[in-house]
Amino acid sequence: MVHRTARCGLRATAGQRRRLFGLLRSAGDVWCAVLELNEWRRRRQDAPLAGYRELCEQLARSGPGTFGQLDTEGARSVLRRYSDAWFAAAKRRKAGDKSARFPRRRRGLVPVRWYAGTFALDGRVLRLPVARGCVPLVVRLDRDPPYPAEQVRSVTLLAEAGRLWVDVTAEVPVAVYPDGRAPDPGRVAGVDLGVIHPYATAGPGGQLLLVSGRAIRAECRQHLRDARARHRAVARRAPKPGQRGSRRWRQFRRRQREVEARHRRRVRQAQHEAAKTVLGWAVQHRVGTLAVGDPRGVLGLDAGRRHNQRLRAWRVGHLIRVLTDKAQVAGITVALVDERGTSSTCPACARRVPKPAGRVFTCPHCGQAGHRDLVAAANIAARAGGGAIPAQTARITHRRAGAHLPGVHPARRDPRRRPHHGPPHGPLAGTGPPRPRSTPAGSRSRHSEEPGIHHRIYGRMH
Ligand SMILES: [Zn+2]
Repeated sequence: MVHRTARCGLRATAGQRRRLFGLLRSAGDVWCAVLELNEWRRRRQDAPLAGYRELCEQLARSGPGTFGQLDTEGARSVLRRYSDAWFAAAKRRKAGDKSARFPRRRRGLVPVRWYAGTFALDGRVLRLPVARGCVPLVVRLDRDPPYPAEQVRSVTLLAEAGRLWVDVTAEVPVAVYPDGRAPDPGRVAGVDLGVIHPYATAGPGGQLLLVSGRAIRAECRQHLRDARARHRAVARRAPKPGQRGSRRWRQFRRRQREVEARHRRRVRQAQHEAAKTVLGWAVQHRVGTLAVGDPRGVLGLDAGRRHNQRLRAWRVGHLIRVLTDKAQVAGITVALVDERGTSSTCPACARRVPKPAGRVFTCPHCGQAGHRDLVAAANIAARAGGGAIPAQTARITHRRAGAHLPGVHPARRDPRRRPHHGPPHGPLAGTGPPRPRSTPAGSRSRHSEEPGIHHRIYGRMH
């Protein structure tokens, strides 16, 4: 059994939204009250209160109604959060990490968690507990939680960039396979992480999988360009240090946070899909061990402004995490392997090769050729005991990640992107003359330079 969490949006009326934010704010009050309590105790040179049970006693002493509509269970979840953070910091400090800090930052909104038995989740309808005497709070999730109701262990209410979410956590059983279909730990596949191909995988018997992440990279670039343009447009109104921003500036900041959050969600979703593809492939080929080349050793190095930005946008830690999480549920082991030199070593003759600049790897010693990322994946598999794998085979499975991203499909145009042809879309888009839908070859006249005239002629001809 493992615990897995899925995030669902909330469909709430304006009144419910106010109440839900009220709960989060009350949780923030609980958090701040604990911080203040420990601040007093520190001044009196008393030991801080950090144990969950002592904090619960303090909460009970504060009496009902102190924290608005927040019920005891919800308030206790904040105490649990504080206690966990405190002891985690204490443990790290004891281990010699002096940069670990005890919780000290005051927070306006704090997530609230309720455990099974205190809430009711029926399909998409979620009934949250509230303090005694308050009107019941029943909201709708915007999608079905991906777990059966009896597996759900907790729900967590949280706000991100002005939107409300519920994290549904469930106890999920590790997959059970029919006889002969179970993943074999002896069958090792190498996984190379990249930007263009988030996952390039080489498995036993020359089975190869390439997951393309071009849509993700396009989304990152588009977002970067869009964010820069937004910033340039409002830079004039940026407040000086210590100055309160104008209302328009604050509106811009809110909008910026929304756009950032949406971009993050899109990339995360696409990376989840990519990892799911890899796991589906691994289960199909009965791969029991995924050897993942871990490039994080070199990420700490300063590689210049542009390259650093690219590396951050890559979110390689998330790629490894989602793959590990999904592998655990599928009963597949993930082993991290040092990936240094794997893309510049020939898988056939094991000699060093100058790092290829493009996508194609060619060995000058033995003539072995193949896709660069798949060669790296084969080398990673070999390091984890996967044996020699021919990288040059025709059995490459191609998959794409991020099919839902805007601009990938013509039916979902990206509003941030200017179309290649025609006037820019925008508030003035409708004022120009419409362009003809199709122009038969050879019918272009001198007049067709101007779309309006051409349209009129073209329209009269038919
Ligand atoms: Zn070679």
